[in-house]
Amino acid sequence: MAKTVEIAGAGLAGLCAAARFSQLGWKVTLHERAKDLRMFGAGIWLWESGLKTLSILGAYDQAVARARRIQEWRIVDSRGRTLMSRPTPDHDRMLLPPRADLYQALIDRCVANGVEIITSSIVTEVRPEGVLVTEAGERNADLVLIANGAYSVLREQILGTAWMDFGVEAGIRMMIGNRPDDPTDVITEYWNGPWRLLYNPCTEGENYIFLSAPVNDERARVLPVDRALWAEKFPAASDLIERFSEASRWDRLVNVRCRRWSQGKVAIIGDAAHAMPPNLGQAANTAFTNVMALALAADRAIDMPSALVGWEQQQRSLTNHVQWWSYLYGYVLNRWPKSIESLRSDVLSTMSKTQWFDEALNRGARHLPVG
Ligand SMILES: Cc1cc2nc3c(=O)[nH]c(=O)nc-3n(C[C@H](O)[C@H](O)[C@H](O)COP(=O)(O)OP(=O)(O)OC[C@H]3O[C@@H](n4cnc5c(N)ncnc54)[C@H](O)[C@@H]3O)c2cc1C
Repeated sequence: MAKTVEIAGAGLAGLCAAARFSQLGWKVTLHERAKDLRMFGAGIWLWESGLKTLSILGAYDQAVARARRIQEWRIVDSRGRTLMSRPTPDHDRMLLPPRADLYQALIDRCVANGVEIITSSIVTEVRPEGVLVTEAGERNADLVLIANGAYSVLREQILGTAWMDFGVEAGIRMMIGNRPDDPTDVITEYWNGPWRLLYNPCTEGENYIFLSAPVNDERARVLPVDRALWAEKFPAASDLIERFSEASRWDRLVNVRCRRWSQGKVAIIGDAAHAMPPNLGQAANTAFTNVMALALAADRAIDMPSALVGWEQQQRSLTNHVQWWSYLYGYVLNRWPKSIESLRSDVLSTMSKTQWFDEALNRGARHLPVG
């Protein structure tokens, strides 16, 4: 008889898990509290780690069909000086599709593999013996996955939260229309003090913009976006700012670290396990590779609780590393004293040319998933 997995949350992590477990022949049920499966307008950075995962799942072609192939990620300061230039050659790729394309590709894999997706299904409890509870009742499974995002309450039921940091930074995401002169393969990240404007080529018709600012900056958190503020901070990007759209989304950028990733037959994945600020664009990619390793460990398990502990031991240090670098990046961006900002430019432009920095920043992006 097929093994069973019950998953709480149909975000990118839950869908990736559902697609992989069903591909391995498991009977999968995915619970989503929302009425329907819908993704908001933004792009997403996909690195080798995520792209290889999608290939294994059979979701690659659909997910990146419209994506721009990025050749370089560049950071520039307020005086136009390049602080970092990260090339993304063919053996170390980055593609940038709309989130909705990635989301739909994973949904379609799940549907094709026979996953039961139950919307308007709120998971209220999980128990280590392999029980998931919704308003409709209790369900038993060989494995239960908590995949319900950074603010997961279910995480507490396996006494998971070690540290939740609400950070000092918030971000706004939106799509804007293209113009013929827009760069098509270079991401530019403009820095000015703790403010950031990130331009991402995304599809033939649209680009993706990410803005970040101190969380207590009242002007930066209003929606629709206050164009005057951003034009003041980033005059060099005025051509982008005049195209800012009204449809945008504001999020506080949080960190989550767990005491453990499993208890009994319950495991935790995605942002529920390791939310991090999006500074490296690697959080979902990290979730994907963790899910791939989890599926293999669970599929081979003779004793599920021990297999889950083994999985965490195998994956945890790389996840911690990615999270730490993402945190550090945010720290340098947000907390560097204004009076010595030019020193930041000097330090970063020197450090970012070293092999050590490149290896550390990109270790997660280059990690290959199992399977
Ligand atoms: C501004 C920003 C930019 C980012 N950019 C990138 C990037 O470029 N590349 C990258 O790799 N990562 C990026 N990330 C991170 C990435 O978006 C997340 O890691 C990823 O979306 C997390 O997916 P998830 O499934 O773990 O959680 P979520 O997306 O939060 O999904 C959780 C799901 O669970 C559902 N849910 C909640 N509670 C319940 C319940 N009780 N019962 C049932 N369902 C429930 C929710 O409705 C939701 O659908 C970015 C993050 C931010 C904030």
